[in-house]
Amino acid sequence: TVRTRIAPSPTGFLHLGTARTALYSWAYARHHGGEFVLRIEDTDVARSTEDSVQQILASMAWLGLQYDEGPIYQMQRLERYHAVVEQMIAAGTAYRCYASPEELDAMREAQRARGEKTRYDGRWRPAPGKVLPAVPEGVKPVVRFANPAYGHVQWDDLVKGPISISNEEIDDLIILRPDGVPTYNFAVVVDDFDMRISHVFRGDEHINNTPWQINIWRAIAGEAPLPRYGHCPIILGDDGLKLSKRRGAVSVTAYEEAGYLPEAMLNYLARLGWSHGDDELFSREQMVQWFDGSHLAKSPAQWDPAKLAWVNAHYLKTAADERLAGLLQGQLARRGIATDDLPLLARASALFKDRCSTVVELADWAAMLFGPVSPTAEDLATHLTDAVKPALATFADKLATAAWDKAGIAAAMKEALAAHQLKMPQFAPAVRVLVCGRAQTPSVDAVLALFPREVVRERLQSL
Ligand code: GLU
Repeated sequence: TVRTRIAPSPTGFLHLGTARTALYSWAYARHHGGEFVLRIEDTDVARSTEDSVQQILASMAWLGLQYDEGPIYQMQRLERYHAVVEQMIAAGTAYRCYASPEELDAMREAQRARGEKTRYDGRWRPAPGKVLPAVPEGVKPVVRFANPAYGHVQWDDLVKGPISISNEEIDDLIILRPDGVPTYNFAVVVDDFDMRISHVFRGDEHINNTPWQINIWRAIAGEAPLPRYGHCPIILGDDGLKLSKRRGAVSVTAYEEAGYLPEAMLNYLARLGWSHGDDELFSREQMVQWFDGSHLAKSPAQWDPAKLAWVNAHYLKTAADERLAGLLQGQLARRGIATDDLPLLARASALFKDRCSTVVELADWAAMLFGPVSPTAEDLATHLTDAVKPALATFADKLATAAWDKAGIAAAMKEALAAHQLKMPQFAPAVRVLVCGRAQTPSVDAVLALFPREVVRERLQSL
């Protein structure tokens, strides 16, 4: 069976790049009727936090990437790693190394002086007939993997195609630290093996780790089939450099807060590094149907905020107004506007959502319903002409008794226009500027109907 996993390190928020490979892993498992596992790689004890774990879980839930197993925490599996280390030492595929950091620094210094690449020179690696140094008193050793000295490591990458690395380029990696905590490259292999992972999608910053992982896999699992690896290129910012915090939001949480919908994020992330013909907009069900591990892009994709906004605008337009009402309520709360009037927010969403690409923009519109508006001096000067002002007063009067709905408001406006021989295009912008704070809005009678009658009348008379 297909078993995939995502293995974030809880040292920060869920990064967009990790969210993308989580999506690929999830979709691939679903496509094959397989299983998707969430593993928390918390062996960097100094930098891992519970808060970050919670953020990651929340982002996974927000994106709707449901896992079948997990979260599994590496720090709860220490005994298992220690047992594997002991087996490897017994089998001769790992060994204890007592070299001190100072000694290793000196070793590397000498290598550099000779113009060589720095690498562990195998001083504690057992070999037939070799005499090892005397074990120093009171030193806690690390455990190193005895990497094969010759031959090549090869795999057929789902994204990059066949890759081959000479073992001569790889040194004996530390797999267990003196404090008993395993290193990433080792724990990942024990876990992928124990969890029967069949396919690994991850960022290509890990491509250099893969030869070690394959060698360690062979040492632990023998001929058991390796996972298939797919290394996805990094995501670039719009300046062509690696997308990073300094160049804009990189966490899933930030996009949630900025008013993006999870289905839009998934759709956009999916396309960023994968394609299905010319399709730009597709549902998660379609993605599951289509995502078979092919058509993954070999070259890095660029993060394109404008395209993301376009995708989000599409999903906003098609989202149910009742759902948007809840999201809008949250966004308004963030700017200090508390309201429980969800039916009103649903009506506002219906009216404004076509003009928005995020829920934050929706809140920009809806805010006019909950507090004073501040028209610009320019709008006031342009639209509040002397010809229009008397008609505003008449309109306010008529609204005192008009039926309070779109039709009633439209009728009152017609009467005011007739009384002053004005035309709609002269009058409506003035009404909008005073009531809504801006000269352009959706159909003015519908917008006015969102407000309480007295608020509209007051704003019309506010000059
Ligand atoms: N903890 C690693 C990371 O977040 C996981 C890499 C992997 O998928 O093997 O980059």
